[in-house]
Amino acid sequence: MKEKWFFEKLYPAVKIGYKIEKVLKTQLSAFQKIEVFTNSIMGKVLTLDKVIQTTERDEFIYHEMLVHIPLISHPDPKKILIIGGGDGGVLREVLKYPIQKVTLVEIDQTVIEVSKKYLQNIGKRCWENKKLELIIDDGAKFVKNTKEKFDVVIVDSSDPIGPAKVLFRKKFYQDIKRILNKKGIMTRQTGSSFYQEKEMKENFRISKEVFKNTFLYLITLPSYIGGFFTLLYSSENINPTKISKALLAKKIKSLGLKTKYYNPDIHINCFSLPEYIKKALKL
Ligand code: SAM
Repeated sequence: MKEKWFFEKLYPAVKIGYKIEKVLKTQLSAFQKIEVFTNSIMGKVLTLDKVIQTTERDEFIYHEMLVHIPLISHPDPKKILIIGGGDGGVLREVLKYPIQKVTLVEIDQTVIEVSKKYLQNIGKRCWENKKLELIIDDGAKFVKNTKEKFDVVIVDSSDPIGPAKVLFRKKFYQDIKRILNKKGIMTRQTGSSFYQEKEMKENFRISKEVFKNTFLYLITLPSYIGGFFTLLYSSENINPTKISKALLAKKIKSLGLKTKYYNPDIHINCFSLPEYIKKALKL
């Protein structure tokens, strides 16, 4: 039988391909084409408009690092806001903390419905958690209008194409700064250091204009090709590189935090940047 392959459509001249074992779901929502298929190595793969969002096999790397860097760095995170995050991975990691409330603002309800049905290994039972307030809305509109304040905002959006474009503008950063408490922290993905250098530089520059503490930090995972994948940390008052390894270990122990990627060494070293990235960021 003819082999079927998925080739990602994110970069004009480079593609990652996954051999499709079985297509589990294809659905056109009001915002995007949602697909879930299985691959013999990566497990279930979620794509939106032909762009890989997450896979069962390597999602833990991205979700742990987007969540634990800010939540461990914050002295006492109680109110969390997630923008996007329709696959449930960020929500799952946030719920490992003794928080008061987590608000998740996802523009496309269908992504949540598909994820609940086909990606239970990622979201697990987090969607039923009593601490969750789920809002189906545009994240940019929400942060502009909300009167609430948050300790940590995690922007787990797709790439700056389609509905996520508004989440990469300076106004969005300014609105987030307004809704953060005094020791508030924001993290987000800012793309591949090789193939999305413009997005990485642009978002780093905007964050530095809006926040006193801006750091880029690095992960690598098979599904997000292009060398180091970059995450952005923005805060007025909390510097995540000033926390000792002993304190990190103490916090992790007292939380009983179980992780597969994040640990004190990774926390300390993920902010170390190679020369080509420092040069691109004018550091
Ligand atoms: N880990 C992925 C990545 O780094 O590209 C992101 C995964 S998550 C599935 C991305 C989510 O952002 C999608 O469910 C999408 O519907 C949502 N999204 C896109 N634009 C949005 C917006 N303006 N407001 C809220 N959610 C948005």
